[in-house]
Amino acid sequence: MRYDYSQPLYRPPSEAWSMIIQVTEGCSHNKCKFCYMYKGKQFRLKSKEEITGHIEWLKAAYKNPKRIFLADGNVLCINTDKLLDLLNYIKREFPNVERISSYAGPSDLLRKTDEELRAIRDAGLELLYMGVETGSDKVLSMVNKGVNREEMIEAGQKAIKAGFKFSCMIISGLGGLEYMEDHAVESAKVISAINPHYFSLLRLVVDEGSELAEDIEKGKFQLLTPLQILDENIILLENIELTDCIFRANHVSNLVNLAGTLNQDRDMLINKLKRVRENPNFIPYTYNGL
Ligand code: SF4
Repeated sequence: MRYDYSQPLYRPPSEAWSMIIQVTEGCSHNKCKFCYMYKGKQFRLKSKEEITGHIEWLKAAYKNPKRIFLADGNVLCINTDKLLDLLNYIKREFPNVERISSYAGPSDLLRKTDEELRAIRDAGLELLYMGVETGSDKVLSMVNKGVNREEMIEAGQKAIKAGFKFSCMIISGLGGLEYMEDHAVESAKVISAINPHYFSLLRLVVDEGSELAEDIEKGKFQLLTPLQILDENIILLENIELTDCIFRANHVSNLVNLAGTLNQDRDMLINKLKRVRENPNFIPYTYNGL
């Protein structure tokens, strides 16, 4: 049995220095049109024996990890009792760990009861990352996200109520030209309703093998130009209402690096985007993955 990582392996940018324990493989949904992360992987939960062997393998390289990220997708679809056992085991093996985090799918959050989520939080899983992608029902349906905006809001609010630190992500340009405004305004509304601790904005990069690439080929989806992406970001920020939320748009996909706290820094962020938008020297880089 192999105890190393099965590839590809993903983690959020902010987990770059974390030790990753791979407790599931792939994504149980795996149907989002724009996503290529786990297309070649069949989703599965790893057995207890595999996970303990994997942790022994990791211990040879990581003596004293402070941060641990649980991969792949859908860690929360693990049965609650098993997840609690796993978290307790991890804390015994790595007693100095200060933060354990994972991705969280909205359907998995909705399936757990409030009590289960609270128990998981108390057992040490502290930070969850949820890909909201868009707050627009039209776009959620178009990209096959598997939930609607109300379910997305409910999932996020439920996680925060259970005590998790919560991070949400929106993809600029995901509505294409047709739904640009709807995507911007509705995404701002959904993120505002969740009011997460962290909010990040990425930019749509289309992979050749994705279903969205086929839609583009057929003329069914029109990518935004870099300037339209900036316009969309401005609309989103103009409509957002958050409390002390750490905001970042500093992923490699972003055209303009943004960092601040929302809503305190909203005007500064919008002004920066407008300045770039109007600067004749702004040469938007046009790589879009196609
Ligand atoms: S975006 Fe997330 S939920 Fe959708 S297929 Fe990719 S990993 Fe799965």
